[in-house]
Amino acid sequence: MEIFNNIIQLQDFLGSLKDINSIGFVPTMGSLHTGHLSLIEASKKENDITICSVFVNKIQFNNEADFIKYPRNEEQDIELLKAAECDVVFIPTQEALFPENYCYENFNLGEIENVLEGLYRPGHFQGVCNVVHRFIDIIQPNKLYLGLKDLQQCKVIEKMIQLKNYKPSLEIVLCETSRNSSGLALSSRNKRLSKNALNHAVILIDTLKFAKNQILNSTFDLSSLYKKSIDSILKNGFESVDYFEFVDEDFEIITNHSQVPKYILTAATIEDVRLIDNIII
Ligand code: AMP
Repeated sequence: MEIFNNIIQLQDFLGSLKDINSIGFVPTMGSLHTGHLSLIEASKKENDITICSVFVNKIQFNNEADFIKYPRNEEQDIELLKAAECDVVFIPTQEALFPENYCYENFNLGEIENVLEGLYRPGHFQGVCNVVHRFIDIIQPNKLYLGLKDLQQCKVIEKMIQLKNYKPSLEIVLCETSRNSSGLALSSRNKRLSKNALNHAVILIDTLKFAKNQILNSTFDLSSLYKKSIDSILKNGFESVDYFEFVDEDFEIITNHSQVPKYILTAATIEDVRLIDNIII
């Protein structure tokens, strides 16, 4: 596995490769787990070369403390990527990726950047789009692998890619959420939770599944499902729930309480750690 910190060296290496038809790219913030590795595996199946980036992107954190507390584990990440037979890992410094005079873009993402995660983390999606755009510019991948665990992020990046209209064209591949045996979505943030909180955290997916079943199998009212769901999350050890929302195909929050949603998404905090999850109806 090749490891690069330097942009020019990475580009020289990619330029020197012969008979390469497709590059798969997996952007991550490190502290890797099986969920990230499932994206590497998917990319390896479909591309000649798989590149994984490891970069904790400061500009997507609206909260400095959250950025500082974000788990970092570079040595272990490299070992996991080697074991997964990833071809290239790119670990740039902040200065290399975003030098002082870097001209950040303001992407016209529409309403999606102001709801759900966007509402609770102002500027978050502009930060995400800027870093992903920067990586795409450097690497010029053919396929981009993203996890459905961050569903809104997938939709936002899809929009950004539409806006940029990259040449050659860039395909997005959306990968299923990897979960532990109880159903809890794997997340780098889980590393900050006690055993007790990890057990409690399963309530997020259990509540999402319950709401989905109610919608599919009975007459339902989204407003009472909403109240029930928030209640059950709070009763199971979570300190707060930022949102538990029903959205339609276009990612608009549903206000008609008898409309069948396309997705349900939630974000809630336990032991001061904010977790997100979602379910597709
Ligand atoms: P992160 O390092 O959290 O920024 O995540 C990097 C990529 O891995 C993103 O596309 C995430 O959606 C994806 N990812 C994170 N957790 C999981 C998971 N449990 N299952 C599948 N993909 C995931």
